[in-house]
Amino acid sequence: MSAVQQMIPVKALPDDDAEEYREGKKRYPWWVKKMDNITTETDDSKLSKPGLNLLVDMYFTHKDKLDGLLEQSKNSVIKANENKTPGRSLRDLALHYAANTYMYQTIGSMGDPYFNIQPGIQEMQSSWKLHPPQELGLERWQGSKQEAYNTLEKAAIQLGAGMMGVTTIKPHWANVGVKLGADVEEQTQDGMKTLIPKRMKYVVSVLGVNPADLTRRNKTELGAAGDRAGYEAAFMATTRIIRFIKGLGYEAIDAQALVPVIPYAIESGLGELGRMNRMINPIFGGNIRIGSVITDFPLAIDKPIDFGLQEFCVGCKKCARECPVQALSHAEEPYWEPVNQWQVAGKKAYFENNQHCFDYQTAMNNYCSTCMSVCPWSKQDTTVLHDVARIAGSKAPFLSKYIVYLDDLFGYGLIEDKEAMEEWWSEETPVRGVDSRQGRKL
Ligand code: SF4
Ligand code: SF4
Repeated sequence: MSAVQQMIPVKALPDDDAEEYREGKKRYPWWVKKMDNITTETDDSKLSKPGLNLLVDMYFTHKDKLDGLLEQSKNSVIKANENKTPGRSLRDLALHYAANTYMYQTIGSMGDPYFNIQPGIQEMQSSWKLHPPQELGLERWQGSKQEAYNTLEKAAIQLGAGMMGVTTIKPHWANVGVKLGADVEEQTQDGMKTLIPKRMKYVVSVLGVNPADLTRRNKTELGAAGDRAGYEAAFMATTRIIRFIKGLGYEAIDAQALVPVIPYAIESGLGELGRMNRMINPIFGGNIRIGSVITDFPLAIDKPIDFGLQEFCVGCKKCARECPVQALSHAEEPYWEPVNQWQVAGKKAYFENNQHCFDYQTAMNNYCSTCMSVCPWSKQDTTVLHDVARIAGSKAPFLSKYIVYLDDLFGYGLIEDKEAMEEWWSEETPVRGVDSRQGRKL
């Protein structure tokens, strides 16, 4: 036992012999009955090897046949494509493999130590599934740019994105050391420079949506969990989308470290730049994180949008008011001059003091998303009042002060009260905490 462990007094565990049945919220509607036993007949005296051993056994029993089975499986995929079997086309296949991204990673990583399966088996089993269709002798997916956009958007939402937008590369919008539109065939590392080929001219931005019920409990570990959930959603969707595009036969790379993601997302119509100097989306507000992919998959592109945010921000100032370190600007209008050397000039914005924001978050050891949570546009609420307020706010900027007043009045701020904080653990929440259809009346 370590010295630290010895210092911690060990509390006796509660008596674990007496089982208890769960009380509280009903899990099912009335027509589902609770039973004393499961509805499948069982007999423990006849029980053979249970659980995970089954998988190991299956693998070893079929070891000799495995290559043949994999070849059969590959041929069945190729044939289904050639025969244009409904539901088994190339894009269906690409979706299947993209949806399988983390399943393979998980099994692959636990396979060796836990199952004692030979290293490399998992890659062997899945390798051809990761290859572009050209390696299976199949033509890559072809369609018009509009069809390509619709296909990718449908897949992106299914794969975890809250929304998707597309624009083209702007060669001057790249991170330091990155050259977009370079005269190279493939992404190339040239000393400290990353060169992105000319043909990879589409930038796909996707939204990861934060679970608002968590981010409203901001400046706590619960709030941090919500903040990270948005990033996780964006990054996981990004990885899956890359696999999907590759599965269609095109090239795709994660652009997170290559380009500034907010400008590209704004350019592709996913939102406007708000006072908080982050993108605000008309459906999810500021409660979002952004993932980004660069690809040569020919896509239709989006136009930027205007939902009245610029006018709304003038009177609102709620993010600036609530920022715990007053890092956000209270100015009456945006300006051209950045606050410090860590900001990029060239846009008229409410530049914030990002040093204050950074210091505060680092010292807290969790993440602040106060500004994103309190923004009136972040409330995924479909009540008439809210719809009216939003429409009025976007068309008549002077009303935004009044709307902020209503927003506060209806308890749309942060949750800080001790009891309400704890309530999260007993509240009903949608899967992953996000109801992606809320606030969305197209
Ligand atoms: S994240 Fe927090 S500290 Fe940073 S600007 Fe927003 S409210 Fe202020
Ligand atoms: S909180 Fe208000 S001022 Fe800040 S970004 Fe949102 S709408 Fe704009």
